[in-house]
Amino acid sequence: MDVSPNQGSNSSIRERLGLRPIINVAGTMTSLGASIIVPEAVAAMAEIASLFVEIDDLQRRASAVIAKATGAEAGFVTASSASGLVMSIAGAMTGAKLLAIERLPNDTADLHNEVIMQVGHLVNYGAGIDQAIRQCGAEVVFAGTISDTQRHHLDEAINERTAAAIYVVAHTTVQSGMLSLAESVEICHAKGVPVIVDAASEYDLRRFLGEGADIVVYSGHKFLGGPTSGIVAGRQDLVRAGYLQNMGIGRPMKVGKESIAGVMAALEAWDRRDHQGTRIREQVALNLWNDALSKLPGLEVRIIPDPTGNPLDRLEVAVGPASGFSAAGLVAVLAAGSPSIMVRGHHAERGVFYLDPCNLHQGEEYIVAEQITSLLRRTERPANAMQSPRKDAARILRWPD
Ligand SMILES: *Cc1c(COP(=O)(O)O)cnc(C)c1O
Repeated sequence: MDVSPNQGSNSSIRERLGLRPIINVAGTMTSLGASIIVPEAVAAMAEIASLFVEIDDLQRRASAVIAKATGAEAGFVTASSASGLVMSIAGAMTGAKLLAIERLPNDTADLHNEVIMQVGHLVNYGAGIDQAIRQCGAEVVFAGTISDTQRHHLDEAINERTAAAIYVVAHTTVQSGMLSLAESVEICHAKGVPVIVDAASEYDLRRFLGEGADIVVYSGHKFLGGPTSGIVAGRQDLVRAGYLQNMGIGRPMKVGKESIAGVMAALEAWDRRDHQGTRIREQVALNLWNDALSKLPGLEVRIIPDPTGNPLDRLEVAVGPASGFSAAGLVAVLAAGSPSIMVRGHHAERGVFYLDPCNLHQGEEYIVAEQITSLLRRTERPANAMQSPRKDAARILRWPD
């Protein structure tokens, strides 16, 4: 197996820092360090690290790169998608009024200070998205229910205090019964309300602006393979108003020159990347897992497409009692192994987990197949093999111990 020293499961810095080796088959997770940063971004970050630049000019250049990649009028780089959302929402509230920007989040009485979202879009990406709205001093106005939003739910929620509507595109939202982006845009634009799209996990950099969104927020560190960052793209006046929040509530979310240069390089590399080659490598890993795991007792596997249509498949593994494991138990035992195998386990209560091939280093797909096979071929089972899914904050509450 060819795993070079600074890559994959044998990283030396992890050893020096006393961190466990991890194989990430969970997807792009903040809690695991997001994604593999592409070499072009690493080089740009290293090159700019010791230089002084005028940040507004660097962001001006970033705006042009973002505009070219997305079809937007303008854009800027933020510390994360979550900060991109906060700054965009705040911008929709204040416009370019500098005193209003300084007064957020408390003094919003004479601003548009309500933000509408469909209840089925109330996701948690590490924090609840409603907090990104409340952080700006705005009130969250929910439209519809978790099973259904009708046009009147959105339409009649709009009033003279409405600053914006948030539309979330993600596999974590409710996937049926919601208003489409096109319908939301139609209803909001008829009353002059901008639509801000959270597309943090989406590949398609043009689609949502094409469908009429006024602002789209992408992650720099998910599929793009940039450093930890976010990208705001859209209508120039709203982008400017969002950018001006750097003089207000955006200040604690500061993004540095290295991240701005890194994400610009990642965006430029995106066009030149061998997307077809990546997809083929991912298919090879999926087929390998599919073959290996389908031979194991109690496991039922199938390759399934990404729920929001990203060009990515995953292996769904249904864990039956004949395996001697529950899904939650197998997820936990794999995570506790050496190397630790982190699968996509947030549907364990449905008896399934997923293997995501998008962040593999060379050769790691074999280790994943071998670890799962050897666990299931063994006659003994660990004590927690049949554990039920359980939400437990005990570990984080003990941090840093
Ligand atoms: C990942 C994600 C976020 C958060 O992105 P960060 O860049 O980590 O802040 C927000 N919304 C959605 C839909 C996401 O998938």
